[in-house]
Amino acid sequence: MKSNLSRKNLQNLKELGEPADFWDYFKKVSKIPRDSCKEDQIREFIKNEADKFGFQTIIDEIKNIAVMIPSTNKALTNHTKIIIQSHMDMVYVKDDTVEHDFSKDPLNLQLYEIDNEKWITAKGTTLGADDGVGIAYQLTLMKKIHEKELNYDFTDITLLFTVSEEWGGEGAIFINKDLLKGDYLINLDSEKENVFTIGSAAFMVYKAGIKMKRISLAEEKEILLPVKISVKGLVGGHSGGDIHEGRANPIKILTQLLWKLNREDKIYLNSFKGGSWETSISKNSEATVFIERGNYSEIKDQVMKICSNIQHHFKGIEKNIVISLEELKDFTDYTYFSKDCQNKLLNILYLMPYGPYCFHSQKRDLVHTSNNIGPIRSMRSRIEFGICYRSFSQYGIKMLHEKVNSLLELSGLRYKFYNYQGGPEWAPDFNSKISNIAKNTYREIFGEDINIEAIHAGLECADFKKHNPQLEIIAIGPTILGAHSTDERLKVSSVLKIWKFLVTFLNKLI
Ligand SMILES: [Zn+2]
Repeated sequence: MKSNLSRKNLQNLKELGEPADFWDYFKKVSKIPRDSCKEDQIREFIKNEADKFGFQTIIDEIKNIAVMIPSTNKALTNHTKIIIQSHMDMVYVKDDTVEHDFSKDPLNLQLYEIDNEKWITAKGTTLGADDGVGIAYQLTLMKKIHEKELNYDFTDITLLFTVSEEWGGEGAIFINKDLLKGDYLINLDSEKENVFTIGSAAFMVYKAGIKMKRISLAEEKEILLPVKISVKGLVGGHSGGDIHEGRANPIKILTQLLWKLNREDKIYLNSFKGGSWETSISKNSEATVFIERGNYSEIKDQVMKICSNIQHHFKGIEKNIVISLEELKDFTDYTYFSKDCQNKLLNILYLMPYGPYCFHSQKRDLVHTSNNIGPIRSMRSRIEFGICYRSFSQYGIKMLHEKVNSLLELSGLRYKFYNYQGGPEWAPDFNSKISNIAKNTYREIFGEDINIEAIHAGLECADFKKHNPQLEIIAIGPTILGAHSTDERLKVSSVLKIWKFLVTFLNKLI
């Protein structure tokens, strides 16, 4: 079938079908600014709705808000307690070509169709379906319970809305633990209608500083030529969610090149840099080195040969790797790292683990422990690099870090690690009560099986589980593609599917 990509502004919410209240709330929420750490207006909106329907609200110190919906069955004392949770903030990204002030402009919702499938997107900006859909589901549920269209006699429901999920996760980390008193928690921040999540990996980010000796170049100036070697065009990605894809790390590629040239004593390293965040796989890297003038074309041939081997190695994964070598004109920084430091540094970086380290013993296609390298920056007398470990156990993180530590120790260089960020694991139990009820409910409604998975990235649920280990948690949600980018889009039919699941699931969790 031919795709029809024409977009039109969303005029009539009726075009989106059921549940109508969901779409009404989704549209209202898309008009409210909700930057991370600036959730005042959306919290106010939620509070007003709860007040209007006569439900009590609690705002904790970090400014999460909870709406309490007690069971109407007063005769029964032993109610099941279910928490339904989303995050209030959204990621602000816009195309350079659009004028948009997130702090006051409503998102410009648009509707388009591909192969008879309707999608909602926002013109030139993120859509904030991550996690506006969660908020809209919760408010719809609250309204329908108030209007007695839905009735959960046996359960006390808490609607929990957290702050700053997209920026450090403080809402979940510093939540008032009383808000997590319950039997089950349903997180509404998942992005695939046919996958429910029941586990996520722990992570730990370190910065390492290595002391380096720098030497000034004097009389060799005439014979040495400064050149820049760049690695560009890599796919990059999320250091948790994409680590199983086998994508190249430009820091590792550049290291390999420099290591080979260094073996033949052909380079003097002046600088090395690449990447911007520990939690993302970088897309490019570059180094400045001095080479002997007479060796330029030989080295260039050598680099191109290594490049073609690398391209072949990553065939099908990395389609646009470009490695280039260019002479630097007007270069003035005639210094380089001592040969001893250079040898040791390149050895460490060449040997340093990167990517999946081992797979989960109960789910063989799930990465259990991994690490990412980057960013890296050289300075006058030191080199700094970041390393992000992820694992379904603290044991895994510790083991990998011990190995990296041993490597640095073996090098004999002076170094130091600084730990500055981390999050707990949410260890998956593939046979938990909540996942079994979810599987049965899904099959009963849709006649097909749901995939129950754990992911290698970190989730708020891991902090909830840490605060209340008794809580059984599952993450669900409609299909959203391209979250955190201006391509973000929400599959319309998927909203009803997850709604049907949610309202039935609540009845089964007793
Ligand atoms: Zn989210």
